[in-house]
Amino acid sequence: MIGADSPDDERTRELAVNLAEVERRVQAACDAAGRRRSEVRLIVVTKTFPAADVVRLAGLGVSDVGENRDQEAAGKARQVRADLGDRSPRWHFVGQLQRNKARSVARYADVVHSVDRLPLVQALDRAAQDPQLRPDGHTLGILVQVGLEPDATGRGGAAVDSVRGLADAVASAEGLELLGLMAVAPLGEDPAAAFDRLMDIVGQVAQDHPAATWVSAGMSGDLEAAVAAGATHLRVGRAVLGSRPPLR
Ligand SMILES: *Cc1c(COP(=O)(O)O)cnc(C)c1O
Repeated sequence: MIGADSPDDERTRELAVNLAEVERRVQAACDAAGRRRSEVRLIVVTKTFPAADVVRLAGLGVSDVGENRDQEAAGKARQVRADLGDRSPRWHFVGQLQRNKARSVARYADVVHSVDRLPLVQALDRAAQDPQLRPDGHTLGILVQVGLEPDATGRGGAAVDSVRGLADAVASAEGLELLGLMAVAPLGEDPAAAFDRLMDIVGQVAQDHPAATWVSAGMSGDLEAAVAAGATHLRVGRAVLGSRPPLR
């Protein structure tokens, strides 16, 4: 056991309250957009919080968690798997990723949201096909991250005009499955305008890859705008777990 204590400890109750409030917001956003709640999946981003919180969240019914740093995520995923086995949630890697971390990420991740350049596609493809890393032989789910900042790459993401080529490369990689696109709204811009730009690119990629239907967009501060634009996957951290210590 890794310290999630009992299902009714104080932290579990706090997470349950926060989760219920996020659920209320997601439902309201779906209602406002005329969408069904089942069209939108919640990924709880647990970065900086301990493995015990992931175990608590799994107990509260959370099926998907996200992490943004391999060093932290690898150890946490191992602890949670040891504790929960098959009941471990799915792991989504959402942070900027170095090529030399591809093998480590392929050990525990089900989906990588942050693929933004060709060498990373190649490294993840090789890692995903290595039976030592992925004995179950499942393909690794991939989202191409779109840089929505005018000069791109501020918070990661491929320049808009390279997204279709990257999507093609992922789709033709044997070890990978192209699931769709991901983006982070730029700081200081109206997220609705940013997500509209994302949906234009989603429409273009859908012409070539109609099965790649995931749109990963929306965080604690802008999930309503993301649901309104058409997001299928929300990545919510602080609104569920509380505020994080500043990174780096
Ligand atoms: C941290 C993070 C999130 C969650 O952000 P919150 O503001 O805590 O909801 C979502 N996406 C990415 C890529 C992140 O790094």
